[in-house]
Order: sequence, then C-alpha cells, then structure tokens
Amino acid sequence: MKFWTIKTILAILLLESVLISAPSLNVKKSAHDQGFNISVYEVYGYPWISASQFLLMLGSDPVSDIEKYTAAGQLNGHLISLKAGSAFIHFDITTYHLPVPVERYGSELVIPLGEWIRFLHTQIYPDMEYSPERRHLILEPTSYSIRDIVLQNFKNGSTLRIETNRIFREQDINIWEGRNGWLYCTIYGATGDTIQLNRVYDSGILRGIIPIQSGETFQFSLRLRSAIAGFDFYIDPENRSININLRKPAALATTINTDETSQKWLIDTIVLDPGHGGRDPGALGADGTREKDIVLDIALRLGRMLERDLGVKVVYTRKTDVFVPLHQRSKIANNANGKLFISIHCNSHDNRRASGSETFLLAPRLTEEAIRIAEAENQVIRFEENQEIYKEMTGSQYIVAAAAQSTFLKESEDLAAMVEKHYTKKLGTSSRGVKQGGYYVLMGASMPNVLTETGFISNRTDLQKFKRASYRQQVADALFLAIKEFKNKHEKQILGN
Ligand SMILES: [Zn+2]
Repeated sequence: MKFWTIKTILAILLLESVLISAPSLNVKKSAHDQGFNISVYEVYGYPWISASQFLLMLGSDPVSDIEKYTAAGQLNGHLISLKAGSAFIHFDITTYHLPVPVERYGSELVIPLGEWIRFLHTQIYPDMEYSPERRHLILEPTSYSIRDIVLQNFKNGSTLRIETNRIFREQDINIWEGRNGWLYCTIYGATGDTIQLNRVYDSGILRGIIPIQSGETFQFSLRLRSAIAGFDFYIDPENRSININLRKPAALATTINTDETSQKWLIDTIVLDPGHGGRDPGALGADGTREKDIVLDIALRLGRMLERDLGVKVVYTRKTDVFVPLHQRSKIANNANGKLFISIHCNSHDNRRASGSETFLLAPRLTEEAIRIAEAENQVIRFEENQEIYKEMTGSQYIVAAAAQSTFLKESEDLAAMVEKHYTKKLGTSSRGVKQGGYYVLMGASMPNVLTETGFISNRTDLQKFKRASYRQQVADALFLAIKEFKNKHEKQILGN
C-alpha cells in the first residue's frame, strides 16, 4: 500500500481531466519497417507522448513499473529511464533535463512531444526524420542493415564477419558455391552500401567481394583466390553479425606424398583423457559411485593395451585422481604431439531409464541434445578459477576453433563410428549414435578427437556393470579395437598401400 501525497493525487487528477487523445505518432526504426503507433494526448492544446509506450515498443529490454511510476529501456544502445514527477531523464550514467516533469497518465508516463523529439534527436538519433504534419518519425532513415564486412585470415582458412544492425534469421541467408571460384551469399531483407562494401584483397583465400542490392535482397559475390575445402556460416546474435567460415583444403590432402610427411601423420602417440578428477567428481551414480573413478580405471586399462599391443606412446591428461583444467587437457595433447585424442566419460540423465553409449565430435552446429550434454560436461568449468578463458571461447573463437577442427572432423567422425560399432559388438549395449557436441575439452586439440560416453551412470543396470572390473576391461577392449581399426585404416591411406 502506498500513501500518495495530496500533491500527487491532485496532479494526476488534474492531468487526467485535461488529457484528450490526439492522433498517434507512427515511429519506425528504419524506413523499411512497419513501425508502431505511439499514443499522443493533448493537454492545454499541447501534444504529450507516452514515453513509456515508446520505450516498451521501440526499446530493448523495456521495464515498466506502474507501482513506482517508472519506465526504462534501451534506445540505440543507450539506457533511458523515466520517473513520474521528475524532470530528469536518466540517460546512461548522466541526466537530461526537461523543462517540465514527466507526468503519469493511467499506466503511462507522458512527456511533451516536442521535448521528447528534441531529446531523441540531440542525444540518440542524430539522423532521425520527423514530420509533425504527417505524424511520423523514422529513427534511422539512412541506416543500412549491413554495416560492414570484415575479413580475418587464419592458418586454416578465413572468416568473413558481416556486421549487421539487427539479428538475421538463418532462413534469411543463403550461401552456395558457384563455378570457377565464386561463392555467393544472399541475405533477404537486408540493405547495404554497395560502393562502400566493395572489397579487393591482395592475399588470402579471398580476392574480393562484389556487393549487389536487388530489391529487398542484398547479395554479395565472393571471388576466391584458391579452392576451398568447404564453408559454413553462423549467426552471432550477441555481436549482431553473420560469420562465414571458409576452410582451406586439409593439409593432409596436399602433403601425403613424401615419406617424411607421411611419418608425421602416423598414429604414434595417443592421448587419453579420463574425464573430470580431483574436486570435480563428474556424474554420480545413485550409490555415490563417481564418474571420475570409473573413467580413470577404463583409461588406464586402455592405455596399457595400446602401449603393449599397438606399440604406441600413450599420454594421459591425468593418471591419478587430480583436477586438470579443461584448457590444460588440450594443451597436454598438443604438447605431446598427439595424433589422436580420446576423452572418456560416463553419461547421466534425469530419466534413469536412459542407457547406451554415444560418441561426440566437435562441430559448429549443435543439436539440442548435444547442448544438454555439453552443458552437463562443461559444468566442470565452475570448478576452475580461470573462467575467463572459456567465456571468451563462447563467441567467435569457439567457431574459429571449430573451423580449425574441421580438418580433423572427417577423421574424428570415422573414429567415433568405430567406437560405437565396437561398443555394440563387445558390450551388447545400444548405440545412441555419433553426435556433434560442443565440449570445451575438445577445443584446441589439433588432432582427430572424440569424446565418448561409455554408458549411463544414472542407469541402475549400467551402474552395476560399471562397478565390475571385468566390465570396465570390456569397455577398454572395445575402445582398443576401435583405435586399432582406425589406426590401420588411417595409416593405409597415408602410406598409400
Ligand atoms: Zn563426464
């Protein structure tokens, strides 16, 4: 319950008695959109606009609290907040002084229209177009939805970042490869400055960009300097950009001819990564059995067999019950010059009947299920002090890492399929398939890599099996057979016989 002062009540009564609805103001963000009609009222012959409605319709993250007579929202990146009775508009960290206080009308906060227009024009939208006669306002009349195109070259390819002023949907974008070294991209509902966005590059995968505006579609043709192995794109809603990754052909394809480079690609070092460890127990069984213990035992059994029967060097990311940060795991793998990376885990699900195995590879597109599991596995990040590294990775770096991985994607996929096949044969479990995951642990490991969920620790039957040493040996056997098959197939290709 609020106690209103007499003055407030009088002010509201007075205002309500003299307010008359007037023709509304049509406000568009850009010349192309439909626009919103914002209420305007007439008081003593002057138009007052509902600034709270304006924030609600045109602002991002609008908040309106009628109880407190406040409204807030972001306009063009600026945080605006209003309070009835106050002659100040809070604007980012400063204030803008109005000649009269903001008034409350019903559930709305109103401001003299002319004052609101002046505020928007001087503080937020310098290019806005306002017509008092036609009662319309266009906030960004000349703004193009394609603001800029930025090319970044990497060792494994290039990323073209198309910066936009709004978030496009995947279905608005179409990219395809043409003949004779051209790649085409169309963005429906986009506009851009075709002169300003024309580009010529002296080196790298791209020779240049030729933009064309055709009605509501913005198209640009990418002229390639050399053949590409493939491309993909993703939308980054946070940074409002469309990113196209162009991948160079795999180094493998061009360097398999000489003996020396062949040697380099032989699978002579295998990195085993038992998930979790130390203060991170991983998933827990109903009786408290810890994922970290099960997977370490499997990894040690597997490692011994690999060394003894395949004669390869085995490097472990951990051999004891210690905590190893995720980024450290890929680093260990790279430093050891590993040729294969296998992360071993047990799965867990709220549905205790879920069972079977699944094996993941890193890929830019994530399925919902992959996200669920990735989130569960990435929980380990909570345990780590250096969270910044991972935060950075969620944006474009994540995708860059994924693009770098794509060289090994095909091989990882091969290995994953073999792992699943041998589980089914050896363990008689059902395979939930080879999937694409978003595990941080795989990031930065520049070698074919998979993350395998050997079974569900949350499943009562699976849990009983995991607790038997003979079963853990069988899991290790299945992984051994998969690696052996992969090694044979891979090396046959490399050595060409
Ligand atoms: Zn795990």
